[in-house]
Amino acid sequence: MRSCTCGKPIKSESATNVRFWDEEYCSRYCREYDERGLEMVNRADMLKEKGSKHYKNFSGMWDYPSIKAKCICCGEETVTLTKTNDQDKPYCSRTCHSRIHRMPKARKNQIVFTMLRVMKHRYLNYEGSEQWLSGSAMYNIMQKMGGHPFKNGYPMIMKIWAGRGLLLKKDNNYRNEEGNSRKEVIYCFNPAHLDKPLGKAFYECAGAKWE
Ligand SMILES: [Zn+2]
Ligand SMILES: [Zn+2]
Repeated sequence: MRSCTCGKPIKSESATNVRFWDEEYCSRYCREYDERGLEMVNRADMLKEKGSKHYKNFSGMWDYPSIKAKCICCGEETVTLTKTNDQDKPYCSRTCHSRIHRMPKARKNQIVFTMLRVMKHRYLNYEGSEQWLSGSAMYNIMQKMGGHPFKNGYPMIMKIWAGRGLLLKKDNNYRNEEGNSRKEVIYCFNPAHLDKPLGKAFYECAGAKWE
């Protein structure tokens, strides 16, 4: 089994893995920690800074620092990630959580937004043809979440979001298992929207008013 930089095994197939699509890290924390090249901090130094008298007792202890990360909805750097909480923690607040879950111009928002997160993640962390996914490939990735209630609606959802400009779309020829040539439509995150948080791109492309 693959393991994370922190040593934890990555259960990419497990239904309890909230970062099921991320095959390199066990948590958002570990990705941010590694990508920013952060280091463990000495607990004594940290306590000394806070004015504790007993800091010397902790000189041999090292901790993972807490990290300020961006909310994937509004883009504010207000999400505090710590190594000990295993949550995905994408949003800064209830407000941003409901902005995504109640965005007025999509149905099944949760599913749609997760699909968009997967697409953006792929664009940023993969190269070339691996950045592109068909609706069926997306469905297979989503199945890893376990008990996914949604029949394969991804070809339709992805087509809608390509029409809205948040995804790019193209035809692809491939050979199926029997060696026959087939056509499919594949999608990729539109890099024109990388400059803003995903939540804002979600609203902007849907033509919904950001509040
Ligand atoms: Zn980890
Ligand atoms: Zn936010």
